[in-house]
Order: sequence, then C-alpha cells, then structure tokens
Amino acid sequence: MPSLKAMISYGSFRIPHCFYSLPFYAVAGMSAQARADCNKFMTTKKKGGDNMNEITREQALDAFVGREIYACQSSLIEEALKQQLFSVDEIDNLYREFDGNLLSPAVCVKCHGEFPCLDSETGECEECYEANQMPQEIFEWWLISPWLGKKLQLIGEPIINNDYGIWWGRTTTGQAITMDYVIQKVYDDVMGYTV
Ligand SMILES: [Zn+2]
Repeated sequence: MPSLKAMISYGSFRIPHCFYSLPFYAVAGMSAQARADCNKFMTTKKKGGDNMNEITREQALDAFVGREIYACQSSLIEEALKQQLFSVDEIDNLYREFDGNLLSPAVCVKCHGEFPCLDSETGECEECYEANQMPQEIFEWWLISPWLGKKLQLIGEPIINNDYGIWWGRTTTGQAITMDYVIQKVYDDVMGYTV
C-alpha cells in the first residue's frame, strides 16, 4: 500500500475496505475483518499532527447526511398540521421518555426524594418527570430516509411516519446537521465508534 502522505499528495485518497459510495446501511454489513482494517486505517495519525480519523469522520458524516436527509420541509409540515391533514398525534416521541441515565446524585430536584436513577436532562425522578413533562421543542422538519427514520425513532427523536413520507422533527437549529448530537450518535453507532 502506498504511504498515506503519497496518497493524499496524489489526490487519490481512498480508504481501503470502506464502502462510502454504497448506501450508508451497507457499511453495517461489512465483514469484521474489513471493519477492523478500516478502523485501524482511520485512526492512523499523519506526521505533523493532523489526525486522519477526524478528517475522514467529518467527510463521511457529510456524505451520510447528504444521503439520508433529503430536504427541509418545515413550512410544509407546519401547514399540514395547521390544516389538520396531519395530526399532532402522528408525531412519535413528541414527549421524550424518562431516561433514567443520571445515577448520581440520586436526589430528585423537585420532590427531594432519593432514587436509584433520575432523568439526565431535568434531574427529576420518574414520577416528577412525568408530572412536569413538556413536548419536545421542534424547530425544523426534515424529509429523511426510512432507514434513518427508524434509527432516530429508536433514540427518542420526534418522527412523523405516514402514507406521505417520513419526517424528522429537529430539536436544534442554527448549526450544521452534522453537528447534531443525535446524528453523530446514529453515525458512530453504525460505524462502531466508541467516541
Ligand atoms: Zn421527584
């Protein structure tokens, strides 16, 4: 294999065994050996301090978003909801579930009782969380692939999935989608990263 530096300078940079040109879900079907080779290669550090891992991850994330997220259709969905073509009841995960991810401190911020786990965002016990629950604030609606729709639905993101399409209710705005925690999480889970 030519050196990394040579490949970059010849402009023919390509990662062996990484099938970025395939649909994203195909990566999950890579053989264990191919994935191991890929991970080994991607964590290679270039002389001079640049981290290959960061460069390729950023490029791959861009390609991922370009492939799985089709278009921003906030006005369309808002109008469909307003005209009652779509119902608010169709929005899955409009209310985020109690996550129980906060293990310590174990004292609920509302009732001050002690619990084995609390919600990581609000610091409340399950009972207080459910009593004070607010709908997630959706800033944008994006038309997305069925594959990404399933992934985002499983991690608690707002999703509309009906006869007309699949939309993701994005709870952030004003930054690149590649910066969204949930998008990076889906990407990293499928790629087997532990960052
Ligand atoms: Zn409580």
